[in-house]
Amino acid sequence: MSSIRTLHALLVDEIKDLYFAENQLVKALPKMAKTAANLDLKAGFTGHLAQTRGHVTRLTQALKILGLPAKGKTCHAMLGLIAEGGEAIELKAPPAVRDAALIGAAQRVEHYEMAAYGTARAFAELLGENQIASLLQENLDEEGATNKKLIEIASTVNADALAAGGQIPATSKSKK
Ligand code: FE
Ligand code: FE
Repeated sequence: MSSIRTLHALLVDEIKDLYFAENQLVKALPKMAKTAANLDLKAGFTGHLAQTRGHVTRLTQALKILGLPAKGKTCHAMLGLIAEGGEAIELKAPPAVRDAALIGAAQRVEHYEMAAYGTARAFAELLGENQIASLLQENLDEEGATNKKLIEIASTVNADALAAGGQIPATSKSKK
């Protein structure tokens, strides 16, 4: 960060962070897909892997526009989020409970990506880097759609997780 003195340099830094982060996700998503028991969730992770490869391609294009090679910079935030996802994968729990944990981890990743793309796109717009701004916006739109899909799947998975634990739903408890 020490050599960053301009908004342009900050944009480059953000894009390199995202490039690293998306490449880490390309490695992590197959493990998430393999672990998921719910078939919609499994398909969701597999579909997002294909999308994530597309995100890497768009970021490669953005770096090319900036005259830079396809090379990232360690993103500690994404490494931490992926480590949390690893904890969900390792859970010794009923499959639906593990799936609920996987969705929680995945949504944290999506929100991080949405925040990072939103920031970088705003920088690109201000700098008049319109092509880069639209590449970042396309990735942002797909992250948003994935997040919505995860919320939908969670409504089923969370109910299954509740049933799998043999717990009484809060609603029926309160009727006592
Ligand atoms: Fe992504
Ligand atoms: Fe994503």
